Amino acid sequence: MMAAVAGALSATGVAHANPRNSNKAESKPEVAPPKPENVMTPDAALARLMEGNRRYQKGVAKRHDFLAEREALVGGQNPYAGILSCADSRIAPEYAFDSSRGISSSVASPAISSIRKNIASFEYAVEILKTPLLLVLGHDGCGAVRSAVSSLADKTTLPGHLPSLVAALTPAVKAVAGQPGDQVENATKENVRLGVDALKNATPLLSAAVNDKRVRIVGGIYRLADGQVEIFA
Ligand SMILES: [Zn+2]
Repeated sequence: MMAAVAGALSATGVAHANPRNSNKAESKPEVAPPKPENVMTPDAALARLMEGNRRYQKGVAKRHDFLAEREALVGGQNPYAGILSCADSRIAPEYAFDSSRGISSSVASPAISSIRKNIASFEYAVEILKTPLLLVLGHDGCGAVRSAVSSLADKTTLPGHLPSLVAALTPAVKAVAGQPGDQVENATKENVRLGVDALKNATPLLSAAVNDKRVRIVGGIYRLADGQVEIFA
């Protein structure tokens, strides 16, 4: 892993992408980040995501110049946001935030255990690629959460490997049991909150990056009907 990290550092030059790291006394020339416009503060990165989401909602997406972008990204990458969302085909973060290749999106089961298994990817994004924002994104109408809620309520066992998905979502479902409102919505949001907490408290790298304000970690929910993303954690 360390060899891979060192290789990534030298291959991309992103260790020098952050202006805070600049040192004029160094003999090595500064290497410009592949997409200078992606070097931004955590708050600016979140504002950019939300602006993109508003364009997406209105159906006025930008025209993305994929030809120029591909060329710029051959030598490296410096995404301004890392997103973990459900594998549901209706989410598609690059569309939902009208982002060209500026976000690194991971799709997985929307469960806390999946986030824990993917900690290394988020560490890579924050420490090596200097990504200033991480977003855990749930969505309404999530079939996995709905299955977990009904399976636990009915004490039914799903076929194949699906019980592992139920087990992974069980902490969130149990945490909101008995609360007023829609159980699936409550469990979906709780699962996002658990994911955000897991990332913020992941030692040693992510927790330190949060304390140093090098990264902001937030949670949101995507609405299938109008495409709106609400940040609530
Ligand atoms: Zn889902």
